Amino acid sequence: MYAQMMQQPLLISSLLTHAERHHGDREVVSRRVEGDIHRCTYRELGQRARRLANALQAMDIGFGERVATLAWNGYRHLELYYAVSGSGAVLHTLNPRLHPDQVVWIADHAEDQVLFFDLSFLPLIEAIAPRVKTIKAFVAMTDRALMPAKSAVKNLLCYEDLVDAHDSDFTWPRFDEYSASSLCYTSGTTGNPKGVLYSHRSTLLHTFAAALPDGLSCSARDTVLPVVPMFHVNAWGLPYVACMVGAKLVFPGPFLDGKSLHELFEAEGVTVSAGVPTVWQGLLAHVEAHDLGFSTMRRTIIGGSACPPSMMRAFQERHDVQVLHAWGMTEISPLGTACTLKPAQLALPPEERLAAQSKQGRVVFGVDMKIVGDDGAELPWDGQASGELLVRGPWVVASYFKGEGGDPLIDGWFPTGDVATIDADGFMQITDRAKDVIKSGGEWIGSIDLENIALAHPAVAMAACIAAKHPKWDERPLLVVVKKPDAQVTRQDLLGFYEGRIARWWTPDDVVFVDAIPLGATGKVQKNKLREQFQDHVLPTA
Ligand code: ADP
Repeated sequence: MYAQMMQQPLLISSLLTHAERHHGDREVVSRRVEGDIHRCTYRELGQRARRLANALQAMDIGFGERVATLAWNGYRHLELYYAVSGSGAVLHTLNPRLHPDQVVWIADHAEDQVLFFDLSFLPLIEAIAPRVKTIKAFVAMTDRALMPAKSAVKNLLCYEDLVDAHDSDFTWPRFDEYSASSLCYTSGTTGNPKGVLYSHRSTLLHTFAAALPDGLSCSARDTVLPVVPMFHVNAWGLPYVACMVGAKLVFPGPFLDGKSLHELFEAEGVTVSAGVPTVWQGLLAHVEAHDLGFSTMRRTIIGGSACPPSMMRAFQERHDVQVLHAWGMTEISPLGTACTLKPAQLALPPEERLAAQSKQGRVVFGVDMKIVGDDGAELPWDGQASGELLVRGPWVVASYFKGEGGDPLIDGWFPTGDVATIDADGFMQITDRAKDVIKSGGEWIGSIDLENIALAHPAVAMAACIAAKHPKWDERPLLVVVKKPDAQVTRQDLLGFYEGRIARWWTPDDVVFVDAIPLGATGKVQKNKLREQFQDHVLPTA
C-alpha cells in the first residue's frame, strides 16, 4: 500500500528559496578578489541567482549540461551554486590549484560548456582557453569596470553584464530529485582524477545530516566562515547547510593567511569555521605571535587530514575554541563521521577526553561503516583491530562519472582506501591511508600517530612519516620534518621524543630535515612525492 504523503522532490533550489523567504535579511559577506568587503542578503542573493538562471538559459545551457567554475569562496560563486544546479544544469567546481594540464583534462572529460572564473585566475584561463575542447564561453566574475582591457581569450564575457541583462522573474523548475546537480573530481593522487556526480537528493539528504547537532551543528544563530574552498567537495556542504538553517555566511575569497582570516573572524563575529589542518597552522601561528584571541568563535571543524592533538589543545585550552574533528571524502559528499562526544566520553579525565576527540568520530545518521581485514571479513569494533574502512549510504558514490575505473563497490559497500579502527562506542579512528601505510616485517605502522607525536614537539612546524626501504624489515618509518623558524632540534632529540609515547618498534628509524613538505591541491601532504624524493634514502639501521 502506498502512503498518501506529498511527493515533493528534494531539490537544491528549495534551500535558497527557503533562505530568501525565512532568512531574507541574513547577510552573506565576502572578501572579494579585489580586496574589498562585499555585503548582500539572502534576499538579494536569491534575486541575483534567478537573474543568472535566466542568463544560463539564454546561453542555451541545457538540462544536465556542465557549467564549470574556477573560483574562490564568495557570493558570486554561491549564486552559481544555486543558479546552475537549481536550473537543472550541473555545477562543476574545478580546482584552480591543479596543474593547467590537469584542468584541461578534467574540463574536457566533464565536457564543460561554460566556465565562470575569478579574475585572479585570468592567467590560468589564458593558458587553458586555446586547449579545452567543449567550453563555448568564459565568464569573468567581476563587473564591467574591472574587465581586462585586452585578453587573448575568445568569447570572454562579464558576469555582472549577464546578471544585469536579465530579470529575476524565473521559476525554479521541478524535476526528478535523482537528477545530477554537481560534479567534483577527486584529486587523483594516483592515476587520473575521477568525477563524482552528486544528485539533488543526495545533496539535500547530506545537508540535513550535516546540519544536525552531532554533525557540523549549524543554526540560524551561527555565523559560518568556510575556509575549506567551494572547489573542494562543495566546501564540505556548508554553502547548502547555511541556507537550510539561515546562518550568516562569511567568505574569505583568496585571502587565507592567518592575519586576513583572523581579522574577518573578529570583524564579522564568526562563530563556526571549517578547514584543513594546514590552514589552521597559519592562523594559530599568527594569533600566537601577536597575542590575539577569538572573541566570538566557538567551534572549528577540522578535517581533510588528521587533526594533530597538539592543534586541538591549542584551540581548546589556549583559545577556548572547540575543535570538531570530522572525516569524509569527495566520494561521500563529503561528510562521513564527526567526533562529537557522547556522555561517557565527556565524563572522562581531560587527557582521555582529548584522545577520544582526536578520533575521526561517529557516523552521521545515513552513513553506515565497517572495517574489514585482508580477506574481506568484518573486523570487531574493539578499538584495536584495524582494517580497510568501507561505507555505504544515500550520499555515497555508486560509480564514477562516465563509469571511469569500473564498479568501485564491494558487495554494495564503497572501499574508502583508509585504514581505521572502530571502538565499542562506534568512534572510528583513521590510522593511515592504505597506500601510505608502513609495513614493517609484515606488521602495519600507522603514520598518523607518528606524525602527531612529532607535531607535539615545540620545534616542529610540519611532519610527515613515510616508508623507507629496509633490507630486513622491508619498510621502516622515516620522519620528514620542517622545523619552526629559528628552532633548534636534532635528529637525536626527536627520536628521543618518541620514548614512552609509542611502542619502541614504531619509533622512526631516521629523521630528515627539509625546508618544505610538498602539499597537494587540497592542502594535504603528497606522500607519493616524498617517497619518490627519499626512495634512495639509506636508513642508519639498514
Ligand atoms: P583526495 O582523496 O583526492 O585527497 P578527498 O578530499 O576526498 O580527496 O580526501 C579524502 C581523504 O582525506 C580520506 O579518504 C582520508 O584519507 C583523508 N581524510 C579526510 N578527513 C580526514 C581526517 N579527519 N583524518 C584523517 N584523514 C582524513
